[in-house]
Amino acid sequence: MEYPSKLLTELVEEIAKLPGIGKRTALRLALHLLKQPEEQSKNLSNVIIKFRQEIKHCDICQNISDKPVCDICNDDARNHKLVCVVEDVRDVMAIESTGEFKGVYHVLGGLISPIDGIGPFDLSIDRLIKRVQDKHIDEVVLALSATVDGDTTNFYLYRQITALQEPPVISTIARGIGIGEDLEYADEVTLARSILNRIPFEKAIKQNK
Ligand SMILES: [Zn+2]
Repeated sequence: MEYPSKLLTELVEEIAKLPGIGKRTALRLALHLLKQPEEQSKNLSNVIIKFRQEIKHCDICQNISDKPVCDICNDDARNHKLVCVVEDVRDVMAIESTGEFKGVYHVLGGLISPIDGIGPFDLSIDRLIKRVQDKHIDEVVLALSATVDGDTTNFYLYRQITALQEPPVISTIARGIGIGEDLEYADEVTLARSILNRIPFEKAIKQNK
């Protein structure tokens, strides 16, 4: 499509780089901004820049945080020996919204995916293994999505953790959650139930066979 302005073209192209937004939507958003007071565009660009520059990843769990250590890791009322391993921040939000999990988290920042060229060292797996060992974690709950990459990552973590001198219990969330479904989309009741009724990882492997 021919745009009447180079400035408009630039903005549309930037907006269209965001996931799930095509050129048509990008154009609609750009024109919308033009109709709003200039102040709104300023605020939007300011919060984006501030977010990007000031957001932190928790030193302990890698969750997104405004402080070096996140509120969950700072909460003494939680069980810090029970660690739930998730793919990203959205999973922490989904599980937290159930209000049923009283442990803490470890955010991997993705899944092992040979096809996408993502290996174990691209993720916060080393930190997890070190944490499990140094903090004498009692139980690790693997709460990754039931996809090929999720399974690959589960097995890798399982092997690494069981190789530790005093390995913790390794469990996984019960699969009320369908195969290939992201945690993010699981409804809260199902997710709460699957966290509470977690099963030993070894048993989960047999069930899948
Ligand atoms: Zn944290």
